Amino acid sequence: AKQNGRNCFAFFNLNLREQAQARMNLLKNIRRGIEKQQFDLYYQPIVDLDSGTIHKAEALIRWLHPRQGIISPAQFIPLAEESRYINPLGQFVFTRALQTLNILREKIDPNFQLSINVSPVQFSCLDSGIDQWPALLEAANLPPSAIVAEITEGLMITPEHLTQQRLKSLVRSGMELALDDFGTGYSSLAYLQQMDADYLKIDKCFVDNIHANNQELALCKAIITMAHQFGLKVIAEGIETTEQRHLLMELGCDYGQGYLFSKPLPEPEFIALLNNSKTN
Ligand code: C2E
Ligand code: CA
Ligand code: CA
Ligand code: CA
Repeated sequence: AKQNGRNCFAFFNLNLREQAQARMNLLKNIRRGIEKQQFDLYYQPIVDLDSGTIHKAEALIRWLHPRQGIISPAQFIPLAEESRYINPLGQFVFTRALQTLNILREKIDPNFQLSINVSPVQFSCLDSGIDQWPALLEAANLPPSAIVAEITEGLMITPEHLTQQRLKSLVRSGMELALDDFGTGYSSLAYLQQMDADYLKIDKCFVDNIHANNQELALCKAIITMAHQFGLKVIAEGIETTEQRHLLMELGCDYGQGYLFSKPLPEPEFIALLNNSKTN
């Protein structure tokens, strides 16, 4: 058994070394990617379910790698968070979103709103730059409510005083707040209200399994009803079928996001989509 253990250990060890090497390479590539400005934002519409109109979108980061093509955030955000490269990336996301907002508000809809994803690491690092966001919005001639910060449940309930303070001061500046992936963690609606959140996003995993008269439907119904009682608007993520859309509409869900409406699109295509939906 011992020998087995040794073999196993040696194998595991080698594997770990390979893993470490891969990590180092990815880390180096992220740094180079930042230097060479290989990142961009794609935009996915958030649709008003009753009217079918689009006045909001979520900005989702993409790595446009010269050889590997488009790399999804799932592949680099975790390491970017560990290494704190999420801070420069997060600053890029914010300033790029402001550029797009100015175009959209000028050419299409003066009230257009963009959601950006903000990592807990950006709240715990003092030099992440998030404290300057209200001033940057003002300098760009945009009201604070043009941006919605999407944060996860863990951040909302963190006992860390500094994070709480920084989150509160963004909210007080007038930026809006959405709780991402609701239902996958532990937060209660009371926390959301205490934080003065504006939106609750129902995670895709609930929407995936929603059918007439099943448990997920009952759960979504309960979440939506309670959210409304707490004064929150509800956005359902990952809507892929008209059946899902209609079930959620019947439950009074306010907004929907998903491939049924559109995949995340690069800025020019997203603008074209908005122009088309305006004339149709
Ligand atoms: P998320 O915030 O929950 O974003 C929703 C994800 O679901 C996006 O994946 C989106 O493309 C995908 N999605 C939307 N509708 C559908 C659908 O109908 N079907 C399916 N199968 N998927 C759908 P994406 O863009 O790959 O992003 C993955 C995660 O990476 C995000 O999850 C978010 O946690 C993180 N992320 C993305 N952009 C950023 C960013 O700028 N900063 C940070 N910190 N995290 C980001
Ligand atoms: Ca999100
Ligand atoms: Ca999600
Ligand atoms: Ca608010």
